[in-house]
Amino acid sequence: ENVPVITIDGPSGAGKGTAARLVAEQLGWHLLDSGAIYRVLAVATQHHHLTIDEEEPLIPIAAHLDVQFEISHEGESKVILEGEDVTNSIRTEEIGAIASKVAAFPRVREALLRRQRAFKVSPGLVADGRDMGTVVFIDAPVKVFLTASAEERAERRFNQLKAKGFDVKIGRLLDDIRQRDERDENRKVAPLVPAEGALIVDSTELSIDEVVRKILSFANEKL
Ligand code: C5P
Repeated sequence: ENVPVITIDGPSGAGKGTAARLVAEQLGWHLLDSGAIYRVLAVATQHHHLTIDEEEPLIPIAAHLDVQFEISHEGESKVILEGEDVTNSIRTEEIGAIASKVAAFPRVREALLRRQRAFKVSPGLVADGRDMGTVVFIDAPVKVFLTASAEERAERRFNQLKAKGFDVKIGRLLDDIRQRDERDENRKVAPLVPAEGALIVDSTELSIDEVVRKILSFANEKL
């Protein structure tokens, strides 16, 4: 099974999700938004009224997570948990924070490995997250680390949330982003670090098109 994988890792708000989607569309490849899996798990812990202080009770929930990724008739991607459409509810800051807490448990991550690797299907996969190139798809031929300043990421998130009608404070978003970076970078398992050989792209001053072009030309060299 020689299915090529492009991994795109980086901190939240760097533009990974959009870049990964556009690269996958350009190439006609499959897409894995691994953060969505951790977010769905966060929602599932709420459904099951679990506290997230302990790892043990989370493991069976992670192992049996009933999540489906679907494309609607309008071509929008949808996330379904236990039959319920959670596409929008997984995107809140609160769920993001819970996701990053459950993601710090080693055995929870392990329970989600197989599910993520199952996305590697012909003709190819673009996978975005924190540990796509360092753990989940360690043999990927093309690895990218996409980053941006915390201020820029807070501003992007602010504009996204505002467009969706959420009332948010930018200072609060910046604090949240810094806290989440800190947690993601310093956890013992699968910390957020660039994979060996990764192309490092700082998107602070780049448009999304420029980011996508950089990734595609790097992929062209490598594949
Ligand atoms: O990328 P996103 O913000 O949707 O991810 C939510 C959280 O899930 C992250 O803050 C991170 O803690 C966790 N995550 C992870 N490994 C991944 C993807 C996401 O630990 N591959």
